[in-house]
Amino acid sequence: MRCLITGGAGFIGSHLAEHLLARGDRVILIDDLSTGSIENIRHLKNDPRLSYYLEPIENRHVLAELVDEADVIFHLAAAVGVKLIIERPVHTIETNVNGTQLVLEAASKKRKPVFCASTSEVYGKNGKVPFAEDSDLVLGPTSKSRWSYAASKAVEEFLALSYWKEKRQPVVIGRLFNTVGPRQTGRYGMVLPNFVQQALERRPITVFGSGEQSRCFCHVKDAVEAIIRLMAADGAVGEVVNIGSREEISIAALARLVRERAASDSPIDFVPYDKAYEPGFEDMLRRVPSIEKLERLTGFTPRTPLSRTIDGVVAHFAERQRQAAVEAGASLRV
Ligand code: UDP
Repeated sequence: MRCLITGGAGFIGSHLAEHLLARGDRVILIDDLSTGSIENIRHLKNDPRLSYYLEPIENRHVLAELVDEADVIFHLAAAVGVKLIIERPVHTIETNVNGTQLVLEAASKKRKPVFCASTSEVYGKNGKVPFAEDSDLVLGPTSKSRWSYAASKAVEEFLALSYWKEKRQPVVIGRLFNTVGPRQTGRYGMVLPNFVQQALERRPITVFGSGEQSRCFCHVKDAVEAIIRLMAADGAVGEVVNIGSREEISIAALARLVRERAASDSPIDFVPYDKAYEPGFEDMLRRVPSIEKLERLTGFTPRTPLSRTIDGVVAHFAERQRQAAVEAGASLRV
């Protein structure tokens, strides 16, 4: 099969590419490296079944050609990360909504199936966990930039479902819940890579708010498996499906667990939300997926234990530190 991945040099996209290549598919990547990185795909670049294009998907002629070449499209290109969204809300809304529109438009000309990556963020402040796919989306006011991400993703979902209803364009929407693992960067605010780097560098681990807020972290390899299985499941077309783990942990407990797994003595600092993000920032207290629908459609349950996931992230950053030290040593000797 020939698979097109938009955002293929991103964190999830690069793991998806790796999995598809390993099972023998041809993979075409398009990525503008805005939040993705060539580092993420360096180990894949010599594979003759991989071709990659460092272009924005807004380049509609390139996109149309790549869609033509593909049998299936995984649309992962998006602006992500709470920090990035607060800093660049215009970019977030435009990239997400326009990008998805262009992908759907191109795919629908030949009815190529599209996986659209959405997010648990769309459930917003809904307090009733676990979140089922037909639960209400409860968003805050438009004056708070955080909600622009959820709203833009909700519009993407409406658009994709409308392409299915009106034009019979096959789409599957996956709502990803706090996906983590090696290669995720902390640059856009994601909690696990930040905590691991802080622990390894013996800096204070910064817990925002009280730390009582909780999340369920899903290993990226489980998320990729779920995505691939969903695209192979007939019953998934035209559906919205949660992709996540059931293992819930508070952010304060996560900080302690990271410190332990990284064998670190970093102190844990509590930082008020106003200082961490922007005045009046609203966080979600709990975010837990209902994954019955995923299990029913695919027979798959994400179950990598969080401690093992953290070990993988610790090993990833420790290796990067080691490489940086070797390079620094080499430049001193020159
Ligand atoms: N968080 C934190 N310290 C950090 C980064 C994030 O305490 O350095 C908190 C954040 O406020 C949220 C949780 O960790 O309550 C998860 O944040 P992330 O941005 O990873 O994902 P979210 O669930 O907010 O989309």
